[in-house]
Amino acid sequence: MTAVPFYRHGLDESYAENVANVLRSPFLTSGTVGKAVEAQLCSFFDVPHAALVNSWTNGAVAVLLALGIGRGDEVIVPAMTFAATANVAELVGAKPVFVDVDPATLLLEPTAVRTAITKNTRAVIPVHLYGQMCDVRALREALGKRSDIAIVEDCAHAFEASFKGDMPGAHSDAAIFSFYATKNVTCGEGGAIITRDAKLFEAVGQSRLHGMSAGAIDRFAKSVYRHWDMLRLGTKANLPDILACLLPPQIATIRDRLPRRAVLARNYEGAFAALPIRMAETIPGTVHARHIFPIHVPPRMRDGMLAALNRRGIGTTVNYRSVPTLTYYRRKYGYGAGDFPVSYEWGEGTITLPLFPSMTEYEQTCVIEAVRECIAASVCPA
Ligand SMILES: *Cc1c(COP(=O)(O)O)cnc(C)c1O
Repeated sequence: MTAVPFYRHGLDESYAENVANVLRSPFLTSGTVGKAVEAQLCSFFDVPHAALVNSWTNGAVAVLLALGIGRGDEVIVPAMTFAATANVAELVGAKPVFVDVDPATLLLEPTAVRTAITKNTRAVIPVHLYGQMCDVRALREALGKRSDIAIVEDCAHAFEASFKGDMPGAHSDAAIFSFYATKNVTCGEGGAIITRDAKLFEAVGQSRLHGMSAGAIDRFAKSVYRHWDMLRLGTKANLPDILACLLPPQIATIRDRLPRRAVLARNYEGAFAALPIRMAETIPGTVHARHIFPIHVPPRMRDGMLAALNRRGIGTTVNYRSVPTLTYYRRKYGYGAGDFPVSYEWGEGTITLPLFPSMTEYEQTCVIEAVRECIAASVCPA
């Protein structure tokens, strides 16, 4: 029996040189390395503005603050996502308005979003779940004349994804990435905001750093002290160079690793096609980032199967249980199992299997065999 980890990052000791270079610099925090990475992101996504942040979550808070979203405002989010997508609305004092997802793709559908819009709606956060992009252009069209509603893409799963040729950031006000430990591009903890909107970018420059006037990040640069002002409320979301220095080689080669992720995903899809397992459908026109590979088994089997896979040394997670049914949201807004039924049902039966570029054929065979045996044992218990 071979243990298969849920995830193995691809950073080796060659990255130590990048860290050593930052150690030789005076401040370790946000500086020239981060600026270079921001330029790299602008060219990768073909956008004029990028801002590194220390997590998706803090980046999204900075964006919502920059958009002036707060008490009395509503932010539409899918019910099937990571809790952080909704939490950021709560954190700025706004109300997350959950919308159920499409049963085939598990993505937020523009028509469903339309039914949740009220006069208080100020933003929608579509989530490119598992690495497949929502149709952001169609979402923009569905918002019609409501140009006061911002679209903020949750691209935590979708760095190298596209839909009909459009990359993240093409049709939104801002797109936000995560460089958390298990993401396709990682520096342990981190993230980035990209935008085409110069005014929003200027405001984010402040809201990601205490609300200080732009350029405060350079305040030590010239060894001449300059007073700074605080122009708006901000958080502390800037990414230090000591972490940013891990990003450039990964961004430069991210597309080279996608074919391996795609092969692993196709292998799983082929192996499970004839079993009582559901998988998310991929829409034509999608370049899928294949961030993670969730399957769905009959809910009564799920927790037993998770335990059986873990006993065999196979790393698994659940992405995700329906966010409105988590205790905090249930208590605050009174949601139950009957609300957002597609998300709830998926969340009760889903298991995420290991998928990472350095996963070997043998490791994947072990996972597939283990899943087959678990299904056989639950369908026909011994
Ligand atoms: C990981 C993740 C986040 C949060 O990212 P952090 O960088 O950990 O804040 C948000 N949304 C989704 C869909 C995620 O998977």
